[in-house]
Amino acid sequence: MRRPGIWVANGRPTDANLMYSWTPGSVTCFMDYLGPNKVREYHAQHPDCPVIIRFQHPTNWMDDVAVSARNHADYVLSKWPEIMDIDPYIYFANETNLWYESGGNSAGDQWMFETPEFYSKFADWTHQVADRIKAQQPDIRLVTPPFAFGHHEDGAPDDNGDPKDGWAGYDYLADTIRSHFDNIITFHGYWGDAGGYIPSRLYDLEESSWYAFRWRRVLKLFEKQYGIRARVIIDECGNMDAAVPDFTDQCIYYAEECLQDSRVLALTYFLWEDPTESPGNIVNSWVQRCADLDGHVSRLAEMPPVEVEPGLTIRVLMPDGTVLVLPLEDYLRAVVPAEMPARWLMEALKAQAVAARTYAMVAIDHPRHDPEADICSTSHCQNYNPARIRDMSDAAVRVTSGQVITYQDQLANAYYSANCGGQTLGNETGFGGPPLPHLRPVACINPGPKNGHGVGMCQWGAHDMAEAGDDYITILKHYYTNVQLSTEGDIPPPEPPPGGGEMIDPRLDAYTEQDGKVVGVKMEIMDTQTFISKWNEFKLKPGDPYFKLVNAQLLDENEAQGNTGIHISVQDENGGLMPAQVWHAYPTTRMSAPSWVGAFDNGDQGAGDVFSYPSGQGEIAQGSGNFAPDSPDDIGPYLVAVYTDPGSGSIASECAYGFGLPHNHHVAYALTFRIERWQEGTPEPTPPDPIPPDPVPPVPIAPVQGGACTGSYAILSASILFSLDKLTVKQYMEIMRLVIGEA
Ligand SMILES: [Zn+2]
Ligand SMILES: [Zn+2]
Repeated sequence: MRRPGIWVANGRPTDANLMYSWTPGSVTCFMDYLGPNKVREYHAQHPDCPVIIRFQHPTNWMDDVAVSARNHADYVLSKWPEIMDIDPYIYFANETNLWYESGGNSAGDQWMFETPEFYSKFADWTHQVADRIKAQQPDIRLVTPPFAFGHHEDGAPDDNGDPKDGWAGYDYLADTIRSHFDNIITFHGYWGDAGGYIPSRLYDLEESSWYAFRWRRVLKLFEKQYGIRARVIIDECGNMDAAVPDFTDQCIYYAEECLQDSRVLALTYFLWEDPTESPGNIVNSWVQRCADLDGHVSRLAEMPPVEVEPGLTIRVLMPDGTVLVLPLEDYLRAVVPAEMPARWLMEALKAQAVAARTYAMVAIDHPRHDPEADICSTSHCQNYNPARIRDMSDAAVRVTSGQVITYQDQLANAYYSANCGGQTLGNETGFGGPPLPHLRPVACINPGPKNGHGVGMCQWGAHDMAEAGDDYITILKHYYTNVQLSTEGDIPPPEPPPGGGEMIDPRLDAYTEQDGKVVGVKMEIMDTQTFISKWNEFKLKPGDPYFKLVNAQLLDENEAQGNTGIHISVQDENGGLMPAQVWHAYPTTRMSAPSWVGAFDNGDQGAGDVFSYPSGQGEIAQGSGNFAPDSPDDIGPYLVAVYTDPGSGSIASECAYGFGLPHNHHVAYALTFRIERWQEGTPEPTPPDPIPPDPVPPVPIAPVQGGACTGSYAILSASILFSLDKLTVKQYMEIMRLVIGEA
């Protein structure tokens, strides 16, 4: 639980009692004003509150780097006896990349302080200062000097942490940050122009990643470019136009957003008037514009503490011996498809994602490659291969975000292997050591042959269970005895059955909406014999191959995360991918749901195309890839079938049709066709009629063994279990962050 802190400027509080009424999260002060600002007394009252001390650098540091560095280090060291009892974080330079902070003559000189040459020289000076201080006083907690807002200190053009022009100012400092600053960077997070008011720069997450929240992007730069799991002290922040009416609301919002991130060590607001009214000293005077400073202070003082969310990163030992540091969820994107083919069913992929996440979190707690790394990139730990990243495995990671399995509230040992051979092994048999209650031998649906250690989840078994219609929770609980999914308690009970009038019957409507979000859709399935009879007299004979739709899955609006693709896989008789041609079409008469569902039967086969999928996999964009909001006409393709007939040269495929949604619904689909042999006289499919009252995990498409009939099925997603009105603002923000790549 954390609270925002106070930046005690070089002046006196307007109301000293107000200041001392506040339990701060941190206090920042200039070295020279510790006494006048009573920081020492303040620290005595709140001994757990970190103190951050700024030493001002000499503006002529560039004249002679070696001499200046030595003198400046000695100056810091000379003050140490006065402050060592409060054990402050110390930074010894501030915003050196501003022209007036490093000896420039005018604003026209600013460009000189945004060049690689400048940063290289500053890094040299910084290293020398830090090195001399640390050599004499290794206990001093030095942190990285902050650069000024708005210059080339990170230079990232986007939110991926890629430096602009191939370089960033921090490039030159990264080694010293690792060796001398304990990977802590001080940061300034202003939003709004001085004198101007641009609310979007705080409230719009994408915009604010350039302004108020740009420290998140810079942390990505550190992880990506330097392999540093950095932490930040947000040492100055605020809307420079403190006169805006919701200034205090903005500050509370910003503090909540920042302090819930475990990578933020402290956040301090300027609060006090500057009685010196130093000309040009904007950061000290802008708070004076605050309409009700005492009210502002009181509200911040009364702000409830912020709960910290774990923001885990993991250190991955790569084959070349380097260590990659990246957020856990990003790491998992390259693990799940490296450990399990991304074309496997979503429920198997989700089970893999949860097992891999749990395994990784145990490794973070107990590094398997101590001391430099938590985990390696090979099967010794978990395979990690970014080249294997696919949309569907990404979706499995996203949908299960943060979920782990636990046993008695502890992380479970989520071992898994390729194939257990029909019966998993207890850990004592597979690895030796005392038996663990959650790693008991269990029977497996897949008969083998055995491949791997056989303890915990069997990947081929997970594959088969998913094919049989089991969801990922069932799979995990089968292989890990008596475990809990970490989010289980959060899942609200299923919605009441229809009859209460609450649920829309997906058979009557094209899609099921809850709280304005699509959680289920209708898809019509036409069997092969009926489908081909629409064009010719060709009939399947017993034993003829045809393409059966073996799985169809909806990713609802949360799961799809803006991806509106229809992902299609075509498998041979063994389940391997095979080259295929896929036909998709949409009605020429563009009708809106649900009336367009019958369009196909009315003879409107629409405009269509046949696409080659040499790899056996492909993706169709719905509509033009991104629907026009509020356009009832703008629907996606509504017909998908495999065109290539493995035997007779004609179409021999089941057909999925009548899906795709209007109104900019960002749902995605995964369809899997597989070669089967036609059998005569097999029973008609039994469509789920009525639709099961309880929204249960994905309803797989019922087996269609042949016969001339048209089935109609509802495809529901597991996420229907999550009631969207339970989504907190915080969760919503997390999702938004994922969407814009800020997580
Ligand atoms: Zn390893
Ligand atoms: Zn098995």
